[in-house]
Amino acid sequence: MALSKRITTLTPDGSGGWDLFFKARAMKAAGEPVVELTIGEHDIGTDLSILDEMHRAAAAGHTGYADIPGIPALRDEIAARVEAASGVKTTRDNVLVTPGGQSGLFAAHMALTDPGQRALFIDPYYATYPGTIRAAGAIPCPVAARPEAGFQPDAGDIDAVAEGAATLMINTPNNPTGVVYARETLEGIAGVAQARDFWVISDEVYDTQIWAGQHLSIRAIPGMAARTLVVGSMSKSHAMTGSRIGWVVGPEEAIRHMINLSTHTTYGVAGYIQEAALFALRQGAGFEAGVAAPFQRRREIALKVLEGQNAVRAVRPEGAMYLMLDIRATGMSGTGFAEKLLEERRIAVMPGESFGAAAAGHVRVAMTIEDTRFETALRDVVDFAGAQI
Ligand code: PLP
Repeated sequence: MALSKRITTLTPDGSGGWDLFFKARAMKAAGEPVVELTIGEHDIGTDLSILDEMHRAAAAGHTGYADIPGIPALRDEIAARVEAASGVKTTRDNVLVTPGGQSGLFAAHMALTDPGQRALFIDPYYATYPGTIRAAGAIPCPVAARPEAGFQPDAGDIDAVAEGAATLMINTPNNPTGVVYARETLEGIAGVAQARDFWVISDEVYDTQIWAGQHLSIRAIPGMAARTLVVGSMSKSHAMTGSRIGWVVGPEEAIRHMINLSTHTTYGVAGYIQEAALFALRQGAGFEAGVAAPFQRRREIALKVLEGQNAVRAVRPEGAMYLMLDIRATGMSGTGFAEKLLEERRIAVMPGESFGAAAAGHVRVAMTIEDTRFETALRDVVDFAGAQI
């Protein structure tokens, strides 16, 4: 029986450059001592106090269908948090609770694009972006952010392909580059969005992981609140990746329609997860800084390791849990480098090419293992790069 074109063409590039990740996992399963610096998963679990609250809420009976838009107290908490951070008036009617940020990205494209419409996104990009856009029936169109520009997107480049585009998806702090978009970058994007009349979907799931500069939400730029959907998540900020809880914040009318979409797709998020999320958010910024601290420490370690050598060049890491290394001095592609590194040193990093053409000649290192092991592995990566020159 035939399957839909939509599902069978979701990822036309097959694994989308994740072969290396699967290979590393297979080697590990076969008992080889592979050091994995691949995916964005914390090396700590969800805090026990959050799990206790999850258990308490479930035992207290929050195991039935929960309010589809999200429980009111959680929507209020998210609204207050977003308003405090951005200065933009936000109420529960601007908030939809979703099963993770990923689901929010999909819902946003469902809400803002019609089948066959162009949906722009910045390259390098989080691996699911093109497939998410295709799943919603739109056409993914990458806009390169160049390494020479520090991977900051250029308003002129966006404008050049904006004709007929319904949306632009941006991500700051950025996965995979670790770059935080500057105010001028966001103002430039906002100017094009308003002149060309498209929506912006702003993926801000790393907003608690800032090492340099400041996180600015594009929704806070004058004129943008009416044309922006912000996607947030507790995966990275609270080490709750497996709980699948996030949100979309945007204009009431868009949220109203996305609630209707939730009714006909996810049917909401488990009540006990939402109660635990509410508890977690109420722990405040200190708790979130504690979850982010290991990445900040490892960033410092990385900067020291990378001092005084020329084999690799770090893209200045300003946020998120990744380090993007420019390995073009080796003359290798990111894929070639990552494959040989895995083969010879048993270290797995992600080829830049798996995040789009703009990241060619780079590799992404996830700073997700214990500090000493991380330092040793990174020294090994640098030594390996030096040996290729
Ligand atoms: N957006 C970016 C940039 C990510 O890196 C991730 C996960 O790695 C997500 C969205 C999805 O996160 P969630 O676990 O909230 O679905």
